[in-house]
Amino acid sequence: PAANAYQYPLLIKRLLLSGVRYERTREIVYRDQLRYDYRTLNQRVARLANVLTAAGVKAGDTVAVMDWDSHRYLECMFAIPMIGAVVHTINVRLSPDQILYTMNHADDRFVLVNSEFVPLYQAIAGQLTTVQKTLLLTDGAEHDAGLPDCVGEYETLLAAAAPSYDFPDFDEDSVATTFYTTGTTGNPKGVYFTHRQLVLHTLAAAVTVGCRENPRLMGSDDVYMPITPMFHVHAWGLPYVATMLGLKQVYPGRYDPEYLIDLWRREQVTFSHCVPTIVQMLLNAKAAQGTDFKGWKITIGGSALTRGLYDQAKARGMNLIAAYGMSETCPLISGAHINDELLEADEDTRSTFHLKAGVPVVLVDAAIQAADGSFLPADGSSQGELVLRAPWLTQGYYNEPEKSEELWADGWLHTGDVAVIDEMANIEIRDRIKDVIKTGGEWLSSLTLEGLISRHEAVRDVAVVGVPDERWGERPFALVVLGEGCELSAADLQTFLEPAVAEGHINKWAIPQQIAVVSEIPKTSVGKLDKKRIRSEIARWQKE
Ligand code: ADP
Repeated sequence: PAANAYQYPLLIKRLLLSGVRYERTREIVYRDQLRYDYRTLNQRVARLANVLTAAGVKAGDTVAVMDWDSHRYLECMFAIPMIGAVVHTINVRLSPDQILYTMNHADDRFVLVNSEFVPLYQAIAGQLTTVQKTLLLTDGAEHDAGLPDCVGEYETLLAAAAPSYDFPDFDEDSVATTFYTTGTTGNPKGVYFTHRQLVLHTLAAAVTVGCRENPRLMGSDDVYMPITPMFHVHAWGLPYVATMLGLKQVYPGRYDPEYLIDLWRREQVTFSHCVPTIVQMLLNAKAAQGTDFKGWKITIGGSALTRGLYDQAKARGMNLIAAYGMSETCPLISGAHINDELLEADEDTRSTFHLKAGVPVVLVDAAIQAADGSFLPADGSSQGELVLRAPWLTQGYYNEPEKSEELWADGWLHTGDVAVIDEMANIEIRDRIKDVIKTGGEWLSSLTLEGLISRHEAVRDVAVVGVPDERWGERPFALVVLGEGCELSAADLQTFLEPAVAEGHINKWAIPQQIAVVSEIPKTSVGKLDKKRIRSEIARWQKE
């Protein structure tokens, strides 16, 4: 025993305790339904652990959750791993077939289901191969709602359970969480993270959001509200950070832009994170008209932050700052950073650095690899695949040995993103390898074009994809959504992009001659441009 005396496993339970230690009375808020303090949070996590244990959940079991962003989700993110089980956050926006696939693939034993998803659950229940019991989550008064194999309703069970639990120590390399990639091609793939990985990720994320200047994103007085679903990469891991720091936290349920703005105002939210589409949705909301969003710091990730959106949001008081990561990376890899050298630069130059994927966070090793596997210099122009090493990357795809090997070829995690790194260590994502437009033997970045087009005042949303072309191999095609009453032709776009050619940002052949004005651009289950669907829709139009 003496040999083990100094061993102190990095377990998720340690993160929960710090919240109580610093700020016992700060609140966790769920819509206008419920608010309670950190003391109560700790008791509720213990109560939930008792409920799950009594229902037969054992260490190593996978426990799935189907819910919108809620205090219940937060409690599950702690209680389930703290008893040694694995929390599977189900992407409720996938198709029922894909949800069924992920649940069977993950060996889900026990499922917590929001009453809103009971019909969906009933429809797939007959084909679930591993689930034994379920538990009902509800904002209403239902106590069963027709959920098969239900052990009871969440609040009722919690109220009857003991408010303390002796959470054991165990191996820090035990898996704590799992979820599936959004699977725009083929079946979704499962990624998974251990206690140790999540603790290190939480510490690194706290350092990053706490000490990056201009702006400092999140400190102990901030009020936190996620607008990235908790089912997608555990809301980027930030609920763990907020809880560790003891921040007031606001959980908005299902995202409705009008309601989000209302909550932001009432609860005085200061820090959020989301994909660009959500910011656009917020700015367009009725409740946003005439509203000054001053003081709202929002980290943007999941897709490139365009200059157009950055400027629009800034004019309305929002402070947007980009970060980069992916499902496979827990997700945090890098964030925009304004260093001393840049503080002296003019505002326009500084803004361009707010949009980049930014510099790697502490403990992350990032490099650029050429197609032949050699490493390229960080000189701001050598372009290749971004590869990574860090303590919190998924070890592979669950039960997919071949895909795992591809992901981890030669000891680096392969992101599938084309990037450059500059001399200040800034990563700039140029494109996904599969979305790069190959025209006349040149590689053209669809993200660069989207960024430039987004600055046109008529443009609300934009996507650029490559379409097959006999002469050039591929040509860029731009899909745009315009502001009310605005117009934009291919010729207008050409005129608008000419200065960018003159300034050397793009080549002449990068200007799209084909554009289509649409009312909406296809998006994935987590609100990103769905380039696969966009390409197939364009192909369909071109056939007609
Ligand atoms: P999916 O592939 O289902 O969209 P992820 O949510 O894991 O899954 O997305 C990760 C991808 O999102 C990255 O590989 C990258 O292409 C893109 N991405 C994330 N952050 C940024 C960013 N700041 N700039 C550009 N692209 C980004």
